[in-house]
Amino acid sequence: MIVFEYRAYGSPLQFAAVDEAIKVTQFIRNKALRHWMDHKGASKYDLNNLCKTLAAQYPFADHLNSMARQSASERAWSAIARFYDACKKKVKGKKGYPKFKKNVRSVEYKTSGWKLSEDRKGIKFTDGCGIGTLKLKGTRDLSHYQLAQFKRVRIVKKADGYSVQFCLDVDRRESLAATGKTVGLDVGLTSFYTDSTGHKEDNPRFLREAEPALKRLQRRASKKKPVRGQPASRNYLKARKRLARKHLKVSRQRKDHATKLARCVIRSHDLVAYEDLQIRNMVRNHHLARSISDASWYAFRVLLESYAKIYGRVVVAVPPQYTSVICSQCGCKVQKTLSTRTRRCPKCGYVADRDENAAMNILQRGLETLSTAGHAGSYAWGDSAATLSSYATPAQVESLNQESHGL
Ligand SMILES: [Zn+2]
Repeated sequence: MIVFEYRAYGSPLQFAAVDEAIKVTQFIRNKALRHWMDHKGASKYDLNNLCKTLAAQYPFADHLNSMARQSASERAWSAIARFYDACKKKVKGKKGYPKFKKNVRSVEYKTSGWKLSEDRKGIKFTDGCGIGTLKLKGTRDLSHYQLAQFKRVRIVKKADGYSVQFCLDVDRRESLAATGKTVGLDVGLTSFYTDSTGHKEDNPRFLREAEPALKRLQRRASKKKPVRGQPASRNYLKARKRLARKHLKVSRQRKDHATKLARCVIRSHDLVAYEDLQIRNMVRNHHLARSISDASWYAFRVLLESYAKIYGRVVVAVPPQYTSVICSQCGCKVQKTLSTRTRRCPKCGYVADRDENAAMNILQRGLETLSTAGHAGSYAWGDSAATLSSYATPAQVESLNQESHGL
């Protein structure tokens, strides 16, 4: 699956209709969740059936295309399934009990309820929501694809406008000569990553520059935050919008940078090993620089996994424990202080950059994992290595990021 995204152009009236469709999506999702909470053991099938009942009950729900209604209830189901999954795996701490949403930002159609224009530079929504024809602007030409390949169409509301995403059933694979090279990556705060050859990939400048600006905008918005129960002031809404736009801009730049980098790393190595960092812990971090770096790394990792699939390379996520403490040459443990950038092994005298040493450990661990698991094991060639394989197309990473920014 690949996702193409286009900026949507239309009248204010049309976008009001889009907002309405998004609200209906949210309504159905929350109703489906409520149904599951009230009826113990309700299945995905039950939630799908609920859509019909809701459409019969509420005229506004009936306006939305039936398949779009279903994909709204599927959203509830995927939250429920994630929760069940966490319970089954006995995840430590919170299991992620599904919550009601109050800020849904997209509506998703499947194969009906819309029609592409003749030149494929516009899309008409044909259900009762009254969205009409939206003009599309983007870099990809949709006329290269068969209509049967269009699996989903999504209208997404963003801080700076609306866009339409097309989810296409395309198996993108390109063959590439083997390079004979392997690499381990260690993520850091000071540099984007350090690899096992000692190369440090710097954080892009826009990230360093964005941080103070983001902090400033954040401060302004929180100063104007209304007291509980009071209506929000216009200035507060404006400040929040400014902050959201800045976040969106940075996330676009970040995605662009990460995409180029990931493609390059994958193309120039046969195997890439990196730490299997826990995303849960990362997201909970409140330190701005840290959380920006975590988010970038998360996106980067998803990209690495999807490019590995495309180019037939191997990616291995290894457990991160002790990678920075163990000496990569003799294997002895040395408690290091964080301040020393270089480390010297007291046993074998090996001197190396701290992060480079960690990257070498990561690579070693990656190779070990592969040899013990066997190639058909849990870390197969590019296919199942992705713990996040459901997101594993480059274009989807962006939508994933951008869904998470406030308006
Ligand atoms: Zn040593």
